Formats: sequence, structure tokens, C-alpha cells
Amino acid sequence: MNDQVQTEEKKVIEIPDFLTVRQLAETLDLSPIVVIKELMQAGVMANINQQIDFDTAAVVAEEMGFQAKEETPIGEEIDEEGPALLWERLYASEAPEDLEIRAPVVTILGHVDHGKTSLLDAMRETNVQASEAGGITQHIGAHQIEHNGRSITFLDTPGHEAFTAMRARGANTTDIAVLVVAADDGVMPQTVEAINHAQAARVPIIVALNKIDKATAQPETVKQQLAEMNLVPDDWGGETLCVSVSAKQKTGLEDLLEAILLVADSTEIKANPNRPAVGTVLEGQLDRTRGSTATLLVQNGTLHVGDVVVASLAQGRVRRMFDEQGRSIEQAPPSTPVLILGLSDVPNAGDMFKVVPDEQIARAIVAKREEAKKAREARPVKAFTLDDFSSRIQAGQIKELNLILKTDVQGSIEPIVNSLEGLGNEDLKANIIHAAAGNINESDINLAIASQAIVLGFQVHPDPAARRMAENEGVDIRTYDIIYHIVDEVDKALKGLLEPTYVDVIIGEAEVRDTFHIPKTGTIAGCFVRRGEVRRNAKVRVIRDSQLIHDGHVSSLKRFKQDVREVRTGFECGVGLDDFNDFEVGDMLQFYVKEREEVA
Ligand code: GDP
Repeated sequence: MNDQVQTEEKKVIEIPDFLTVRQLAETLDLSPIVVIKELMQAGVMANINQQIDFDTAAVVAEEMGFQAKEETPIGEEIDEEGPALLWERLYASEAPEDLEIRAPVVTILGHVDHGKTSLLDAMRETNVQASEAGGITQHIGAHQIEHNGRSITFLDTPGHEAFTAMRARGANTTDIAVLVVAADDGVMPQTVEAINHAQAARVPIIVALNKIDKATAQPETVKQQLAEMNLVPDDWGGETLCVSVSAKQKTGLEDLLEAILLVADSTEIKANPNRPAVGTVLEGQLDRTRGSTATLLVQNGTLHVGDVVVASLAQGRVRRMFDEQGRSIEQAPPSTPVLILGLSDVPNAGDMFKVVPDEQIARAIVAKREEAKKAREARPVKAFTLDDFSSRIQAGQIKELNLILKTDVQGSIEPIVNSLEGLGNEDLKANIIHAAAGNINESDINLAIASQAIVLGFQVHPDPAARRMAENEGVDIRTYDIIYHIVDEVDKALKGLLEPTYVDVIIGEAEVRDTFHIPKTGTIAGCFVRRGEVRRNAKVRVIRDSQLIHDGHVSSLKRFKQDVREVRTGFECGVGLDDFNDFEVGDMLQFYVKEREEVA
């Protein structure tokens, strides 16, 4: 209780991801000497102009009685504003004069068998042959291609599933999406999905019309289909660059690279190479001879051999670093994919990494994250629900409700989308980021996490893997059998009128068999659990002769003097309640939790 009061009184200060000792002193309104001394106490030797990272600065700030809040929480949990913003934040704190052009990072998307892998391979082969014949490429999750003296980074895992799974984890690696559409097959369901996923991430799309060598290729028909999807080809007067290629015959590849650079130039793809590196883990592996290895995409700053890296719960000094051709390199500027050795542990794909001043700080950060992880695991997760939306509208925090709609048949999509799009007003609208026929799958859940969206199912249900994932991540899935119900509920949510309905679920009952008075604490009921289980975090009704005597919270739950979280049927326990001491032998304690009522 006391702790809480104290934290509330602490002044909250915002600290960027990196800052100099001088800046920290200014922020805290303290002499730099005091800050340097405090840093020394924490084991960090830093001079006034040295850069320290957020976690280090936070230690000092908290020692000095402030509460530190990360201004740009790179690599931390998905925050309220959603992961899309992390991308901008990677570069947000940079002064414009520090920014330099970097290679664009490209992901290949498209329907199965339209030639994504072939296209990646074709570009890589042509390029390797051009630079160094017979070069053996290593798989490091991404590779760079040179074109007209400039680099382009391609991520090696094509498809929107991987793309959105990364985004759902808070990582955003892609600057440009190349949408592969087979000219003989046209726009297919996964093409549509890919378009929706790329657009939800606000990533520009370039179309590669592949298999143009085939006699059955019908590029004009495909362009028509694309135009219907709002991707109007450039040669039709639209804004979408559309390049005809053949991955098989290796034609059009130069034009595609040219188009990528053109889009890159129009979107100002820049980074600051002169700062400690931050970026995303593309893959992590345990190598039998080399230990933990990780492939990283440096997104801002430059990574050097000898730097200390933290990635989620892994940390360590970069012992060696390799490019995709297996060459040992000393430094990696922005947009470079590298394989590094030296981490304590294997990080996961999608984890953000950052360079910190030294190993002691790295270990402290990991320890802090481990603690936070435990705390997080102890409380239920919640991504974003329709009820949240309703209350955040009332608070004026959001203006758009992102929705993913899955239906039983294609024909149901249009009437539902039409009705939903008519709801709300200028300032507040439903935004359908993806609509398709089929069961709710993991890819939908990832998209929902990445875009803070609600998943609506019309006469469909989540498949088991998607349901598990949604439960773990707290994604709100709502399924309906009647169109009117979907429309009505979204309408209410948009008006901020949706009241979450909670039901009391009884989880267990215990009978009072004895009472003890404990000085300073109050009366404890010695109980026997008759049914279900009783939990420390549940609410309790005291029932005497079928009458409700009290309704409140548990203050203590013990078994033989030990604090416990739960006690099951057939066991004895001691129960104390907040603000209630009048237990009598024979009382029934009904333990219950509030759960949100499932929408039918
Ligand atoms: P992905 O599933 O999108 O990665 O597609 P793949 O790269 O595996 O290609 C699917 C099939 O299409 C393979 O049999 C390829 O050989 C073939 N293919 C890919 N590109 C071309 C092309 O430009 N022309 C022709 N004729 N076939 C192609």
C-alpha cells in the first residue's frame, strides 16, 4: 500500500532510448557531477558526453526519486498505440541532419505458387554471378542485392504470414512489399490477403507480374483485377508500379530493382548510422559448434564487433559477425542483415535488439525483463477488445475501429462490409482491414494483434490453433449468425455505448468450521473447501442461512501459515476478508470471479 502511494507521488519523466549524460542531468535538473557519481554507483563509468541507454538512465532517475518512462520503448512490449508506431519510433528521435539514405528492406508477398521463392532466387543468383561467381550464400534470413551502385535488402521469408507475425510481435522490418502475381493465374485469395496485410502496415506495394514467359499469361486481365483492388497500374495512370518479370527466364529483374529504388527514393528511407545499433532479430539458432547464433537486421545505427547486444532475454558481446556470403565483417550499417556470435541465449524471430554500453547493464536489463515477464504471466493478457474500444472512444483516444471480417461464403462479405462502412460518422469509423471467406486462422490473429483489430466471424469459427493464440494474446474474436447482430454491435461500439457485460462465475465453496481472532489482522475463518477451488484473487460472498451477509475481496488465504494462491476441494484453509470479521461457524463462503459474457 505504502509503495503505491510513493510511486504515485514520484514525478514521471520521459527519457529517450539513448541520451548523453549531460542530457540526462538536464532532464533531471541535476548537476552532471551528481549523475556521473550515481552512474558510478551503478557500475557505469561514463563521462559527460557519453551516451547511455534508457535502462541505465532509468536506474539513475529512480535513485534520484523520479519515475522513468521510456519515450521510445523500442523492443519493449506492444504499447497502447500499437506496434505500427514502433517503426516510426525507430527513427523518430533522430535529428534530420543525422539521417542518411539507407538500403530499402523489401518483403515478397503473393499467392502460393505464383513464384515468390523463384523470384527471390533469380534475383540473388543474377546478382551473385555479377559480383562474385560461385559465391556460396549462407542463409541468414535476408540478403542484399546491388543495383546501380545501391543496395536493396530482401527478407528471405516470403509471404504475408511471416510478415504479419513479425508485426504482431512489435517488429516492423519492411519498407516496401513486392506483390508477386502470376500473369497466367491473376489475383487469388492470398493475393488479396497480402494486399490487405501490406496496406494495414502502410507499406507501399510494387507489383511483379510474374510468369510473363508463359503463353497463357494475360497481363492486361491481371491489371484490371489489380485496379479493382485499388492498385491501379502506373501505365494505366495509377500509382502502383507494375513490372512484368519472369523468374524462370530471369527477365524484367533489372526493371523490378529499378522500381524498388524509385519507390525508395520517394519515401525517404533513411537512418542514422552514427549511433548504437537497434533492429530486429530475423532468426535465432543454437549451433552445435558456435553456440547461440542470431541473424539480425540492423535498422538504425551501426553494429560493430565488440558491441554488447540485448535481444529480449538474450544478451552478450558480439564476438564475430558475418554477412550472407559468410565473410567476416567488422561493422554493419543500417539495413544490413548479419549473423552474430556471442549471445548468452537464442533470441526469437521478431525480437527487437539494441546495443547497450556494457555487459553489466545488459544483464541488468535482462533481469528486469525477466521480472516483468513473470509479472505479466501472472496477470491475464489483453490485446484489444471491443469493450476497450468503446471506453476509449468515450475517452476520445481513438478515431477508427479496425476490423477483420471472416465469413462462411464470399457472398456474405459485401452486404456486411457495406453495412459496416455506413456506420459511424466523419470522425469515427469502422475500418475493415481484411475481409475474406474462411475460418478464422492464425494469420488473422496476427493481423489483429499487429493492427489492434477485432476479429468478427460470420457463421465461421476460429480454428483450434487460432483460438489458442487469441486466448493467449487476448485478441477479441466475436462470432455471429445474424448480420444484424454484427452491425448492431459495431454500431454500439462506435457510439461508445457498448457496456461490457460481466457474469459472476462461482469457482468454489468453502464452509467455515472455526474462527480465530488475530490481533491487528482481524478474524480468520478456518474453512473446509467443499467444492471447486478457492482462490486468493477471487471475490467472496458470505452466506448464512441462505442470506447474503457480505460481499467482498479476500485479504488472505493460507494453508498452515503459508500464503497460497489457491486451495482445492477437500482441503482446509484459513480465509481472511477485507473489511469483514464477523464469521460464524457454519457460514458458507462462495468464491467467484467476474468473467465477460460471451457474445452469442
Ligand atoms: P511460391 O509458392 O510463390 O514461392 O512459388 P515458387 O517460386 O515455388 O514457384 C511455383 C512454381 O512456378 C514453380 O514450379 C516454379 O518453377 C514456377 N515458376 C516460378 N516463376 C516462374 C516464371 O517466371 N515462369 C514460369 N513459367 N514458371 C515459373
